Amino acid sequence: MTDTTASRSAVPTIELNDGTTIPQLGFGVFKVDPAQTEKIVSSALEAGYRHIDTAAIYGNEEGVGRAIAASGIPRDELFITTKLWNTEHGTESAFAAIDASLGKLGLDRVDLYLIHWPSPAQDRYIETWKALEQIQQQGKARSIGVSNFLLPQLTRLLAETDVVPAVDQIELHPALQSTELTTFARSKGVQIEAWGPLGQGKYDLFEVPEVTGPAQAHGKTPAQVVIRWHLQSGNIVFPKSNNPARIAENFAVTDFELTDAEMAGITGLERGHRVSAHPDEVN
Ligand code: NAD
Repeated sequence: MTDTTASRSAVPTIELNDGTTIPQLGFGVFKVDPAQTEKIVSSALEAGYRHIDTAAIYGNEEGVGRAIAASGIPRDELFITTKLWNTEHGTESAFAAIDASLGKLGLDRVDLYLIHWPSPAQDRYIETWKALEQIQQQGKARSIGVSNFLLPQLTRLLAETDVVPAVDQIELHPALQSTELTTFARSKGVQIEAWGPLGQGKYDLFEVPEVTGPAQAHGKTPAQVVIRWHLQSGNIVFPKSNNPARIAENFAVTDFELTDAEMAGITGLERGHRVSAHPDEVN
């Protein structure tokens, strides 16, 4: 077994607005085959990851739970996020949803529970958020947050409810940085989690000179450079891969630093390019 103690302890943490801390780098399991999830999450834990991002809709919470149980890693050293799916908006549905997720994960609490999408057509996210506030009070989720909330939903949530979300998890990669949203969220104490941090491999991100240049200069891969750009930008990230070599590669990003000019080059790749669904259209 490789000794990952040094790299693990080097993962920066971010303090959330409720006083808890989150490892800034984790492992995401969107589209990880449920039958393979235990094995793949085990290899991520072996590589040193301690933060796992799943969701009820991914259908793989049980595999995540089995990997956690098999790892023997003390619960307090792990940070586990899951999410409430769109069909579960509403008070009673939210209470049932968290219990179902905890049952599948084999845990008595998650570290972060998110509303997966605001689902504006249903217009129930305020009610659902109030249920999450209770779920937090009951100790079933240490922190609560939202995902895919754009400015209109986030602004309304802040105006109409008591607890400020710890995070907003949004699509964010060099070609889509949503700066107006992230600046507003951070000004209110909402940390930004970047999903699709590598653009889901859907555009030429790893071939452009703004990324390949720093990769060559630091002896790193393009993926490592992009993950490093996220960390230095203050984003929380959990890149996904099914491949153990890439899982380890994506974790080895704490031993180099991009210069201001390299950071600016990658930031300059913004072009408002969404690689996945617009939140208004997911209901
Ligand atoms: P990602 O940007 O992490 O891209 C993953 C893809 O990038 C892989 O399938 C692979 O093709 C490629 N890749 C990964 N490592 C690589 C490497 N080292 N070299 C070359 N290619 C590599 O996309 P994602 O999985 O969509 O996002 C990460 C996580 O964010 C998800 O697993 C999930 O946990 C979360 N997520 C959340 C939402 C949401 O609505 N809240 C939506 C999508 C994803």
